Amino acid sequence: MVLFSGGQDSTTCLAWALDRFAAVETVAFDYGQRHRVELACRERVRAELVRRFPGWAARLGEDHLLDLGVLGRISDTALTREAAIALGENGLPTTFVPGRNLVFLAFAAALAYRRDARHLVAGMCETDFSGYPDCRDDTMKAMQVALNLGMERRFVVETPLMWLDKAETWELAERLGGADLVELVRTETHSCYLGERGQLHEWGHGCGACPACELRAKGWRRYRAAAAP
Ligand code: ZN
Repeated sequence: MVLFSGGQDSTTCLAWALDRFAAVETVAFDYGQRHRVELACRERVRAELVRRFPGWAARLGEDHLLDLGVLGRISDTALTREAAIALGENGLPTTFVPGRNLVFLAFAAALAYRRDARHLVAGMCETDFSGYPDCRDDTMKAMQVALNLGMERRFVVETPLMWLDKAETWELAERLGGADLVELVRTETHSCYLGERGQLHEWGHGCGACPACELRAKGWRRYRAAAAP
């Protein structure tokens, strides 16, 4: 069960899962995020993966979209309200949605329980991140323990990007699916916090100025510089 939002990270995670597991399903959460463009990218990314990677097509199963609108209604953040993206007084960006990844994992596990899936694959990363405490490796490990105790299962929370920086995430995509997958991630996935698709930059679509675009662009440049002869 892959937590798949349609962004660069979760698309790379989906490819990672398709490379390893015979049966893969995807889940996303609609929590009233200001911009739905990421969710709109999901279907296209899934369709393109099927079209361009016949070996993976047979492994890619159902897609689930869960309504978690209540999370957006109780949160006061730049992702769910008209607020500026900045660093808050607590040192966390205003894009931090408290509890988001904990809630996501709990719902993904509840769904995995029903679907008889054992591995929960998610794109959390504490290497090139914005300081979100719910992206930490310790948070994920604690969550795995809590889910297994609370649901009497043996779920494995897989976070293949945890110790990769953004350049290495591009490299992982290349290792998994070659230039074809890199191009798919570059042109079809979405990371921009402002929800802008706009023009296609060398690193993909986006406003080019928000923290998510900056991180993505910086990673792309380092990845390309490392690939240059
Ligand atoms: Zn942006």
